[in-house]
Amino acid sequence: MSKKHGSKKGILGIVITIAVLVISAIFTFGQKNLWKSAINQTDTKTAAVSSLQSSEAATQPLSVHYIDVDQGDSTLICCGEYHILIDCAKKAYEENVFSYLDMMEVDSLDLVIATHPDADHIGGFADLVGKIKPALYVLPQISPNIKKTQTELTLLNTLKTMKVKTEYAVNEKVFTFGDMRITTYITQSEQSDKNEYSVVAKLEYKNASYLFMGDAGKTVENEFMKAQYPLQADVLKAGHHGSSKSSSAKFVRFVAPRYCIFSCGLDNDYGHPHSEVLQIMKKQKVSCYRTDERGSIIIGTDGARYYFATER
Ligand SMILES: [Zn+2]
Repeated sequence: MSKKHGSKKGILGIVITIAVLVISAIFTFGQKNLWKSAINQTDTKTAAVSSLQSSEAATQPLSVHYIDVDQGDSTLICCGEYHILIDCAKKAYEENVFSYLDMMEVDSLDLVIATHPDADHIGGFADLVGKIKPALYVLPQISPNIKKTQTELTLLNTLKTMKVKTEYAVNEKVFTFGDMRITTYITQSEQSDKNEYSVVAKLEYKNASYLFMGDAGKTVENEFMKAQYPLQADVLKAGHHGSSKSSSAKFVRFVAPRYCIFSCGLDNDYGHPHSEVLQIMKKQKVSCYRTDERGSIIIGTDGARYYFATER
């Protein structure tokens, strides 16, 4: 009797289990469809960028964000309460930078470096300083023989009107923010090419190191190697979007990076990054990441290890 009762109980148990499974399957399927339609309704790019915010790379004590700004440059550095921005894209892509800063909840900038006054590097600065007034704006002092562009003149005027504290870059000057150090390097010679005036910056945090080249070319690379500046870095943002005018094999050996970033637009008119440079990186076993392929790229560090996150 009790056995019979027991088997009845067993059958009832199986029936309940099946019912629960069927109901939960229907529920999950429904949820999935709901989720799918939610994704379809959202801008998928925004969704991908937001997922970067909570990535392991972004939540490290130091994170470097190579923002996808098509053909141009803009790099955000976050270290605790400190925020630094190197370059600010073309004006047409400034919204990429502004929305990225919003996403990362950046509402102050301790330092801004304008590597050089080309439109694909400074185009967004005039509007940026209206949103977030940086504590200090560093720019290169360029030969008076090189004519200033309208973008540059407008920006200089805006900086003046907004009373932004500006400073010309000084060779081997060190900026310290908590455990993070940034050293700037600039050419000591008269140059005919504006790119060669790019402010080169080396970022150090404990044992981690990053080098940002702006659009500096081989002339400056040679000058810096000759001067034996300590430019060795684990992460190199290749000069001039990966143009073969920069990143000589000798210089890449000198920096000895493990990782290289190319900030360039998809199918850009210049063919950046150039195949010669990709070959040099391949030969020296440097892992390359490109914003045209990956979208925005984050390389975070705890000072010992590196953590990566990419938009795609
Ligand atoms: Zn450029």
